[in-house]
Parts: sequence; C-alpha cells; structure tokens
Amino acid sequence: MLPRIAAESDTHSSWPSVFASSCSIHAFVQQRSFHQCQHPLDLWLCVACLHVLGFAAAFAVGRHAERSGNWWFVNPRSRVGKNSFKCTWIVLLPLLFAWTALGMNWLIDTLHNTPDCFPPDGYFTPTLCALFQVLCGVGAVTYAIFVANVWDAQRCRRANAAAIASVEDHDLVDRWGQLVPAASMELCGGLLPGEFVDLPRHAVGHEGSQCVICLSALMEGDAARSLPGCGHVFHRACIDLWLLRRTICPLCKSDVRFVHS
Ligand SMILES: [Zn+2]
Ligand SMILES: [Zn+2]
Repeated sequence: MLPRIAAESDTHSSWPSVFASSCSIHAFVQQRSFHQCQHPLDLWLCVACLHVLGFAAAFAVGRHAERSGNWWFVNPRSRVGKNSFKCTWIVLLPLLFAWTALGMNWLIDTLHNTPDCFPPDGYFTPTLCALFQVLCGVGAVTYAIFVANVWDAQRCRRANAAAIASVEDHDLVDRWGQLVPAASMELCGGLLPGEFVDLPRHAVGHEGSQCVICLSALMEGDAARSLPGCGHVFHRACIDLWLLRRTICPLCKSDVRFVHS
C-alpha cells in the first residue's frame, strides 16, 4: 500500500505525512488484532499520526496565508498566519508531549501485563511502537527548541524595529536606504532608542570636514551631531546608525554613554 499512496500523493507532500498516513491505515486494518492488549496501542499510533498531519496542515495553512516564503512564521502579518503558528505550540505541541508520554506508559503496561497481544504476522511490533514513540518525543523536543528560536528571532525583530523607528527620518533613508528589522540583535548593541533624544544635534554651518562613516563631506545645512566629550562631528543619520550598534565614537573610541551620563 505504501508505494501506491506515495505515487498518488501530491509532489509537495512531505514524506512524514505519507508515512503517517500509511501507518494510520495499516493500524486501522490491524485494529481488530489488538483487542487483547491492555491498552489500544494501535489507536495511540493513529492519533500520533494525526498529530504529525496536524503540524503539516498548520504550516501549509500559515504559509498559504502569508505568501512570504519558508520563514513566514518569524514575522506573520495575517491573523491566519499568526494563529496557525500559535496553534502548533499552544495546542499541538503540548498534546504531542502528553500523547507521547501516555503512549510510553501504555506500551510499558502492555508489555508487562499482556506481552503476547501483538499480532505475530503484523509489522507493528513492540520495537516499532517504542521507536515511533521515541521519534515523537525527539520530534516534540526539537520542535520546542525551534519555537524558542522563533520567539527569539521575533524579539530581535521587535527590538530592531524600535531602534530603527527611533532614528529613522528622510535624511537617513536618503543616505542608507529603507532599513529592515533583522532577526538578530544587529541594531541593539549600542544606545537605547530613548537615549538619542538627549544627544546634541545641529545643522552644519560651514562645509569642509568629512564624515568618516559615509566618507562624504559635511555640507552646509546637513543634519549633524557633535558627540559629547570628544566633539567629533558626523552626519546625524550616520552616527545614529553607528550608535545603535556601539556606544563608542568611531574616531577616538571614547564611550558616548559614559561621557553623556
Ligand atoms: Zn555621513
Ligand atoms: Zn571622538
């Protein structure tokens, strides 16, 4: 049955889904043979397969709603996308953990009390059942780690978006283009967004010096900052982007935060 199912499957179907489907069907076919077991391990296998299909369905729905590539869950914009990913870790993941633990308990109980109940001519042996439960457990732990990483990426994006919003204006976009929040703490190693308000800024009066960040001349009327302490002058947009990453002057390395405080 497995080759026929595989042949009829959509080319985009993942192999776990195909495997899960075929396991479920086989288990249902064999269901009558398990009636002497203390616990319905065939039912456990079917529901575990449904869990796998549930994850696949949630990702398929979310990706279809977002239409933004493989990493849609890092920054879902639509309600369907957000809820699809939430559904995997609020509902499916705890259920998978609980169902795996229950299955292990059932298997141990069954092997202890009714060890001969497995059909001798079936492929669903205690070893395969245990292997599948271990796979479910490893899969659940791996997915939990994956969710933690996605949360961290979302936190970084929010922090970067706040940092960009605190310094972005037309001048910055003209010089450096539209900034996109990254999923790393790229713009979060320097000053906090609220600390820019207190830094001195001015319009360049006489051109002549150069901004060492963009290597362009400071032209009359350009928005600029003279750093407190050392007095080095840069375009406001250039030094603000620098100070989001680091708190030191790019020329003399004096710490702006320390001097300012
Ligand atoms: Zn500059
Ligand atoms: Zn300096």
